Amino acid sequence: MSKRAFNFCAGPAALPEPVLQRAQAELLDWKGKGLSVMEMSHRSDEFVSIAETAERDLRDLLSIPANYKVLFLQGGASQQFAQIPLNLLPEGGKADYIDTGIWSKKAIDEARRYGGVNVAASAKPSDYFCIPAQREWQLSSGAAYVHYTPNETIGGLEFGWIPEVGEVPLVADMSSTILSRPLDVSRFGLIYAGAQKNIGPSGLVVVIVREDLLGKARGGCPTMLDYKVAADNGSMYNTPPTFAWYLAGLIFQWMKEQGGVEKMGEINERKQRKLYQAIDASALYNNPIAKADRSWMNVPFRLADERLDTPFLAGAEARGLLNLKGHRSVGGMRASIYNAVDEGAVDALLAYMAEFEKEHG
Ligand code: PMP
Repeated sequence: MSKRAFNFCAGPAALPEPVLQRAQAELLDWKGKGLSVMEMSHRSDEFVSIAETAERDLRDLLSIPANYKVLFLQGGASQQFAQIPLNLLPEGGKADYIDTGIWSKKAIDEARRYGGVNVAASAKPSDYFCIPAQREWQLSSGAAYVHYTPNETIGGLEFGWIPEVGEVPLVADMSSTILSRPLDVSRFGLIYAGAQKNIGPSGLVVVIVREDLLGKARGGCPTMLDYKVAADNGSMYNTPPTFAWYLAGLIFQWMKEQGGVEKMGEINERKQRKLYQAIDASALYNNPIAKADRSWMNVPFRLADERLDTPFLAGAEARGLLNLKGHRSVGGMRASIYNAVDEGAVDALLAYMAEFEKEHG
């Protein structure tokens, strides 16, 4: 067996090894059917059972109420930036957006193509180091929805709370935080998440949408982008990304075996606490985010001297600690510690960081 590295990639991210082993074992012959999941009709009983089991397991994991549809779609989270206004923002209407970093800005820019966007609050005055308190938000009256990004994957800024927006549907890009801890789905109108972090491989985006928000797509919305069409067709209006859906299902099963989102939340809380504590205690590493707003899943950090970045990354790679380079737009380092990155991986990173600081600090 080849040795698997510790993978801190922001996405596509590490997948649980037992899931990969199971997919490998089932690759040539899924449950004695003599073919792989990739080669099955999406309309076959076999694949429909895979799809339904995946949905049921996700519903169990997040206790998704019965009045929500779960959609398994394509186009990534980026396509949702357009699909949301196409479905929820009436012609001439407006929506409120909260700007907390690069991903929320992308959502804002895309929504502006479809209607009025009010940026009700922005983290810009703090250089995106701090989430604006809800009492400062300038929510508009008559907004079709309020959109925010609970976890900014690049900036490492995460909401530890759910905004209170009354009757207005709350829409959340949970790409990099979904399933990292328990979540009260009933607080949201719509949740979406690109799969390639805590859900599975890329090529899939999961949308959890309250039923009363279906059937509102504006005229001209492509059929493929109408949530109601997707819901009415069990996310199979066309051929879905079957293998990604199957792998997502294996991950949901793995998560249930691990003890679900409660257990994941406990482990993730410990992982992030250890890492931030080490960063804060060090003279070499630094994370600028306000303590209450630090991401559990994406931990960016800088070295005191940028010239140490290259040797730091080289030493990390030599020890099998991969993908620690920060996003090209912000530089520095970033450790993404999603569910499949276990505590042992974080401990290995911490040991290396301490060793590097001793040598170079
Ligand atoms: N939103 C967030 C918070 C993300 O982290 C990402 C991807 N890293 C996206 C949106 C875009 O996702 P996709 O590549 O699936 O379009």
